[in-house]
Amino acid sequence: MLWTLPERGSKIAARFFCLELAVKRLLACVLISSVGCACLAADQGAIAPVFDPQRISAEVKTLSSDEFEGRGPATPGETKTVAYVSGQMKAAGLQPGGDLKDEKRSWTQSVPLVRTQFVGEQKFSLTVGGKVQDLKQGEEITVRATIGESGSVSLANVPLVFCGYGVKAPERNWDDFKDTGLRGKIMIVLINDPDFETGAGDFGGKAMTYYGRWTYKYEEAARRGAAGILIVHETAPAAYGWATVKNSGTGAMFDIERANPASAHTKIEAWIQRDVTVDLFERAGLDFEALKKQAQTREFKPVVLNGATFTADLKVESSAIVSHNIVGRVEGSKRPDETVVYTAHWDHLGVGAADAKGDKIYNGAVDNATGTAALIELGRAFAHGPRPERSIVFLNVTAEEKGLLGSQYYASHPLYPLAKTVANINVDSLDPGGLARNFSQSGSANSGLLELLVSYAKAGGLEFLPDPHPESGGFFRSDHFSFASHGVPALSFESGNDLVEGGKQAGEAKHKEYGKTRYHQPADEWQADWTFAGMAHDLPILYKVGSDLANSKQWPNWSADSEFRAARDATADQRK
Ligand SMILES: [Zn+2]
Repeated sequence: MLWTLPERGSKIAARFFCLELAVKRLLACVLISSVGCACLAADQGAIAPVFDPQRISAEVKTLSSDEFEGRGPATPGETKTVAYVSGQMKAAGLQPGGDLKDEKRSWTQSVPLVRTQFVGEQKFSLTVGGKVQDLKQGEEITVRATIGESGSVSLANVPLVFCGYGVKAPERNWDDFKDTGLRGKIMIVLINDPDFETGAGDFGGKAMTYYGRWTYKYEEAARRGAAGILIVHETAPAAYGWATVKNSGTGAMFDIERANPASAHTKIEAWIQRDVTVDLFERAGLDFEALKKQAQTREFKPVVLNGATFTADLKVESSAIVSHNIVGRVEGSKRPDETVVYTAHWDHLGVGAADAKGDKIYNGAVDNATGTAALIELGRAFAHGPRPERSIVFLNVTAEEKGLLGSQYYASHPLYPLAKTVANINVDSLDPGGLARNFSQSGSANSGLLELLVSYAKAGGLEFLPDPHPESGGFFRSDHFSFASHGVPALSFESGNDLVEGGKQAGEAKHKEYGKTRYHQPADEWQADWTFAGMAHDLPILYKVGSDLANSKQWPNWSADSEFRAARDATADQRK
């Protein structure tokens, strides 16, 4: 999973929608038993496959062993991972579902990536009323290495424009830009969405919509042809401190290879400290807090910072890398061109800075050897179970930790058309321990897919706990988001926090301990006392959701107010 994990806290009241037909059918069939039920989906659901915790444990142990070197993309760790996972998929009975070579599918999809890093020193400054203020990289400002071609970037005295939250959301009748030309200018924007501070409004209140995410703001700046964008860092709406911004923003950057990088990235993609911004506004004769209040209303219009400009001088070096998604498949018997996709990322952080014990290998046992093992075992269940009517793809993606790149590449170069992709179910960092009484999903996006999962989970004894911290944008931090942003109904399943042994107290303590001592650290290692009983219990539920979808003609969709709905509806004519 990308960046910091949201901490789990108090339960937020669930907002359930009425159960759909599929659920009623399922419940009826559970009562009637599998014999004599006319509903194929439920027939299959009734024969729940058994997931072997020892096999899951062995797979997690292998994938997270030191031999795999932390599974860094385009390293010897990738070669080992690709060989192991494709071997396991084959042994599990799956067919290769990757790139076509000589009219035959291979086990992988090539993912061309670009790696960019700074060369030498970077210089940034603000000028107000003729007075120059230098900004120190990583301290007052964090500019990431410009994604694109190698070379120098020089910007001299570029005008600054405050654009509020930098949001244009037609379905919410919201436009911070009001036709203001921003070509060649530097945008200053606030993090999160316009109703975060007030807690109620058009953007789900405290919950973060995609408009609140920094990646959206970078993309919007590129769409407007701006020279750059500075996001004002404020800890509460960002959900992380400056250290996180600094640590993840100053190293090498990765992106998928693009024909025209400038269409996706401006030259300056940066965060700026709040204090520096307040001071800058003051010197330009503006009141930051007052403008921020205005930005929380529809009437807001961009404000030029009179007499204030931005200057930058930097040099970057880019190189091309090829990594791989690993793809297994079960072909559908009746509608093979319609696909249900399960995803999990195989990559982790590779070899990096040593921890206190001198360990440099970031093994990524929980993150995400657990999800990769789950994907292999879901594949085994489908390969050995009744053949589904629609196809099922098991997509083990690369470079999630570098910005969801393997899944982004798949979504923009799909091996199977997205318009006919029924749904995406993602697993990232599952709990390798014992049974829980509940489960959650990352973020608060609502869809028919979630309703289906909630109902099957209930039948399987798991209560639904909505993401207790949707404001931290968990929805946008794993691979299902790459499908969602292209309109495909998608979710990421999260293990529960109410443990059968020890309840919520134990579950939360465990989660906290993981976040503090293991998450994205060399200590995320396989442990002998992990039972994997929780995963063995929960995976049949994910199997049933996929099986139900693959044996029906359902096309679940996003809720009416979802920012992903329009992208899905645009291809509705292809789903009959
Ligand atoms: Zn991670």
